[in-house]
Amino acid sequence: MLDVLIVGAGFGGLYALHKLRSQGLSALVLEAAPSVGGTWWANRYPGARVDIQSLEYSYSFSEPLQQQWHWSERYASQPELLRYASHVADRFELRRDIRLNTRVTKAHFDEAAALWRIGSDDGRHWSARFVVMAIGPLSTPNTPAFEGLESFAGPVFHSAAWPHEPVDFGGRDVAVVGTGSSAVQLIPIIAEQARTLTVFQRTAAYAVPAHNGPLDAEREARIKADYAGFRARNRRMRAGFGSELSPHPKPTLEVNAPERDAVFEQRWAIGGFSLLGAFVDTLTDMRANELCAEFVRGKIRSIVRDPAVAERLCPTHPIGCKRLCVDSGYYETYNRANVTLVDVSEHPIEHITPGGLVTGGRDHRFDTLVLATGFDAFTGPLTRIDLRGRDGLHIRDKWRGGPLNYLGLTVAGFPNLFNLVGPGSTSAFTSVVLAIEHHVDWIGECIQWLDAQGHRTIEPSSEAESQWVQRVNQIAEQTVYPHCNSWYLGANIPGKPRIFMPLAGGFPAYADRCAAVAREGYAGFVMR
Ligand SMILES: Cc1cc2nc3c(=O)[nH]c(=O)nc-3n(C[C@H](O)[C@H](O)[C@H](O)COP(=O)(O)OP(=O)(O)OC[C@H]3O[C@@H](n4cnc5c(N)ncnc54)[C@H](O)[C@@H]3O)c2cc1C
Repeated sequence: MLDVLIVGAGFGGLYALHKLRSQGLSALVLEAAPSVGGTWWANRYPGARVDIQSLEYSYSFSEPLQQQWHWSERYASQPELLRYASHVADRFELRRDIRLNTRVTKAHFDEAAALWRIGSDDGRHWSARFVVMAIGPLSTPNTPAFEGLESFAGPVFHSAAWPHEPVDFGGRDVAVVGTGSSAVQLIPIIAEQARTLTVFQRTAAYAVPAHNGPLDAEREARIKADYAGFRARNRRMRAGFGSELSPHPKPTLEVNAPERDAVFEQRWAIGGFSLLGAFVDTLTDMRANELCAEFVRGKIRSIVRDPAVAERLCPTHPIGCKRLCVDSGYYETYNRANVTLVDVSEHPIEHITPGGLVTGGRDHRFDTLVLATGFDAFTGPLTRIDLRGRDGLHIRDKWRGGPLNYLGLTVAGFPNLFNLVGPGSTSAFTSVVLAIEHHVDWIGECIQWLDAQGHRTIEPSSEAESQWVQRVNQIAEQTVYPHCNSWYLGANIPGKPRIFMPLAGGFPAYADRCAAVAREGYAGFVMR
């Protein structure tokens, strides 16, 4: 019998294993993939890289690790991130407690024994006092149920399940369906290789330049001179990163147009998410948001030479409402003679044929199909497991109307189960590695406290849970987030309840709340 069974060996599972083992707990990780790395194992499409700078999207728990690891670029690419995950697994001797190629198919709570009984796809079984679900917010790829997809004669690739051998697009007529973050990264690269590229766009994306390049040695040295201080300052930022830049002291509308544009221009030149942090109210005031959005539309119109194509590329939803894309030459790609943009917002894809697809009654021909159609975010990985809590309650029934949870970490009726960076936490609005470290540290303390107090189980009360979900939704209502069809809302998956899932209140307030709950003897929880 284990103290803790951890599901998933991405950045979450790796740190959970290290932390909980170092507390003297017996722990084991089960991972479906043949490798550690999670997101960075699966998403190996051309151009895959982080959109938060690597000096910030990385572990902070080990000073020697953060000092000795050198990122080659400002925004690390997928191969480098995978090397990093592998280095962490070796450095902290994690592999001996990780079972790869092991998909957890069921986890049942045994009330009499106060234990979780876990089973895998190859028929093995484990029992554990605690389960940490480190299965990732974005680990279940979404493949839309296009009629005729199986009839397509050429290769079909999904950005989140990319083959391990190189894919040669030379001389191919390629179609990309989707224009979210992954598509924005892969489109410019495929366009350079393919004979023709047709992009099928349902919703235009806001993309800001990454200005990626080799990591500036002077900046790296400056941050490493006081990495702990840099991390601490980041933890006080709403998004958990970006502390080197402060927002303009005044709200957007109190700043005159020339000064406002100068601020936006400066952020555009810096690149990445910094544009959203230029003013404090971009994500909370629709009028302020529109000024920022129009600035980006102006950029699109200035980059894309064909005015009709530029207009089709101009998003109409609030900026930041869907995850902002960070690009390298995305809009410029539409100036290429071999690239065509097809808007499917009014005429959705009707069906796939052996040689292409039909939309708006028109036949589009291609021989290679790339689906960059995102994920069943937050709830997808958990609801695919036969997960049952007290009284046999199934997570799919519990979450039928939306993902009830407390603190974005726990679920009433599912004792001793912790869901890392899940719905109800700030995960997607932060640098997720920071969010992972925060959750794992909180879980470690919680288990220590339970053991010291002699409690066998912990789970939230139903009242605490419903108040938390209400709070998550109330906070979202004060922002621009509910005003578009995003994966934050589950809107990309037909039939999924439309509930705002991540917590938009900012990391510092969230971390304070989690700390207060612990200080108050785990207020809102029931211990037995
Ligand atoms: C393309 C892409 C780019 C991203 N870029 C950023 C970024 O720039 N900044 C940022 O903060 N976040 C980013 N993210 C979010 C990213 O998911 C997190 O940053 C982080 O990697 C999550 O780590 P994790 O360990 O929680 O989950 P994951 O890395 O998703 O790992 C979960 C693991 O659990 C395994 N698993 C799932 N179900 C089971 C099961 N039933 N049994 C066994 N194993 C299972 C999966 O195989 C996977 O290996 C990105 C996500 C994607 C998809």
